[in-house]
Amino acid sequence: MEKQPQEVVLVGAGIMSATLSILLKKINPAIKISVFEKLDKIGFESSDAFNNAGTGHSAFCELNYTPIDKNGVVNIDKAINIAKQFETSKEFWSYLVENNYVSSPEKFLRPTPHMSFVWGDDDVNFLKKRYEKLSQHPLFKEMEYSEDFNKIKEWSPLIVEGRDAAAEKVAATHMNLGTDVNFGELTRQIFKGLLDKNEITLETEHEVKDLTRLNNGKWAIKVKDLKSGNNKSVNADFVFIGAGGGAILSLQKSGIPEAKKFGGFPVGGQWLICQNEEVIKKHHAKVYGKAKLGAPPMSVPHLDTRVIDGKQSLLFGPFATFSTKFLKYGSNCDLFKSVNLGNVGFLMNCGINNMDLTKYLVEQVMLSKAQKIEELKEYYPEAKIEDWFEQTAGQRVQVIENQNGKGILKFGTEIVTSQDGSISALLGASPGASTSVSAMLDLLGQCFPKSMNDWNPLIKQMIPSHGEDLTNAELVDASRARTTKVLKILD
Ligand SMILES: Cc1cc2nc3c(=O)[nH]c(=O)nc-3n(C[C@H](O)[C@H](O)[C@H](O)COP(=O)(O)OP(=O)(O)OC[C@H]3O[C@@H](n4cnc5c(N)ncnc54)[C@H](O)[C@@H]3O)c2cc1C
Repeated sequence: MEKQPQEVVLVGAGIMSATLSILLKKINPAIKISVFEKLDKIGFESSDAFNNAGTGHSAFCELNYTPIDKNGVVNIDKAINIAKQFETSKEFWSYLVENNYVSSPEKFLRPTPHMSFVWGDDDVNFLKKRYEKLSQHPLFKEMEYSEDFNKIKEWSPLIVEGRDAAAEKVAATHMNLGTDVNFGELTRQIFKGLLDKNEITLETEHEVKDLTRLNNGKWAIKVKDLKSGNNKSVNADFVFIGAGGGAILSLQKSGIPEAKKFGGFPVGGQWLICQNEEVIKKHHAKVYGKAKLGAPPMSVPHLDTRVIDGKQSLLFGPFATFSTKFLKYGSNCDLFKSVNLGNVGFLMNCGINNMDLTKYLVEQVMLSKAQKIEELKEYYPEAKIEDWFEQTAGQRVQVIENQNGKGILKFGTEIVTSQDGSISALLGASPGASTSVSAMLDLLGQCFPKSMNDWNPLIKQMIPSHGEDLTNAELVDASRARTTKVLKILD
């Protein structure tokens, strides 16, 4: 039997550490969990509401999850996988509501229909094929499709008004079961629930500065109190680096050989936001389109209804920006600190082999506000510049992996674990917070493979579909009947 963790340190208080804290506590109530967060607030980096798009990624609307090959065949495997992972998240969040870890689901999750919207023959054909395949699957059976201007206008007036129905071919899909999630609020509610029950300790304004492996197999974590300037050392037999964009830097400090395979490149984000009530009231959906050539998958444009702290607004973007910081509240030196003799070669190789992406990023950085409004007009033809302001979003670190000397861009989420499973980091940000529960379950499986047999029944108490095949129609219906009610999804 492998050694199970008794003393655990989590670096960073974002949605990933919040999720892992609950899972670990349920598996072993006696476990000692210490969380260190360098900011003075919890869930304030990428997990905070306006730092991400808040889309409950379920593959209802994201066209990049269903690629089409050169023979015109649409592959839905990734979409099904992400949809299943989001159902897992909803089951887990329902458990949190039912067990008083979180109090008000309506504060972190709002029903918001998910739509895909395209124009032009090729993209309309693609959307139709995508719909025909997905709607056969139990997870997508409620999906609707239309090429009719009036129907699409019923779903979302803004995207149709001002278009010439006779001159332009458009199509849209609509899923009523879509969600908008305030991951920052969810993170804060989870940590509050854990702290109220005295199940963890959490210190804000405490930055993890170094990680050293001790001879007895434990980790010594050097933590700086940013208020007093004092350092302390805390020991743990398991460390999770949930530092978001800062994870690469902490991972490098651990010195584990697995860290040498990775590097990162920061990509900032920016939204256009509208708070004009006349405009806002005409839109109640998240409308995703197709990415431009060279754009990374997370840069797919979308026009979203957001309700944050009770205030409704519209959000469009993301536009890419450039900064050398790995975190929004990070340091301009982050990128330079992460480059070393071991990774400079494959990082440069990655840049040379991804000229499309480089060109896209340069073009994005050069865009004026008026040019951004022109891009918005592709989704909302009657948009007026005076109704919109620019707002900085969260920072992402694009993961680059060394594969035989070549730097390969990784667009998903990467879990990097030491060979003995005593330290693990989560890198990357897509599909991100929506699939945090599956990501943390995968992490447990990687770090403690032999313990999972004992833990699975406990996990199943939180996530009833755990270990089952969520492609089964009856199971999907049962799971959704519960989560829709508990999380008040179809209000
Ligand atoms: C523009 C944008 C749009 C996105 N849209 C979506 C979306 O629509 N849906 C979705 O599901 N996901 C989305 N994501 C991804 C999602 O935001 C992230 O996957 C998720 O928030 C990551 O959570 P985390 O806990 O890993 O990191 P974070 O929330 O960033 O938390 C990490 C924490 O670690 C702290 N920290 C860092 N270093 C240290 C240190 N050394 N010591 C102590 N503390 C430290 C930081 O201060 C921070 O609080 C988006 C991300 C971005 C940037």
